[in-house]
Amino acid sequence: MLTQPIHIINRAHIPARTITRVERAILYQANHDLRPVWHTPRVSFTNHGWGVLIDPTFRPGGAHYYDHGGLIAPGCTTPAPGCHAHATISTKTLRGGIFTTPLPWTAVLSHEIIEMTVDPHLTRRINDSLVEVCDPTADQTRTIQGVKLSRWVPPAYYHRHH
Ligand SMILES: [Zn+2]
Repeated sequence: MLTQPIHIINRAHIPARTITRVERAILYQANHDLRPVWHTPRVSFTNHGWGVLIDPTFRPGGAHYYDHGGLIAPGCTTPAPGCHAHATISTKTLRGGIFTTPLPWTAVLSHEIIEMTVDPHLTRRINDSLVEVCDPTADQTRTIQGVKLSRWVPPAYYHRHH
């Protein structure tokens, strides 16, 4: 069974206990909710694999707290061996990009991890839409195990909207 390791790099000094609790909730979401619908690999959190940086100073475009959207790692411009998915999120809860309401960092973290899992190289399309499964519901959260996480859409969404 394919497992995708993901490494959270916590530069925001979030307490380890909080990270563990959030990881547990995201594991449930990725492996029990998402996986049966999108047939994604099982996700595990460890100290290697896809990097997800939590950077309190990260501000793309100036004022926004949002992420790289599951972009390929720096220096990798096309999907290739050794180039893996990479995301950066901030702990700042400012509006920006596709988010019209401020979201907790836990929801942004879940947003990126889910999108990386479904489409690690930003190449997956259905009916000409890039399959970024959290974007249509970017402002919506769902609470799992007491943690606010992102919502996501199923494949049927892309077959209805094109
Ligand atoms: Zn997204």
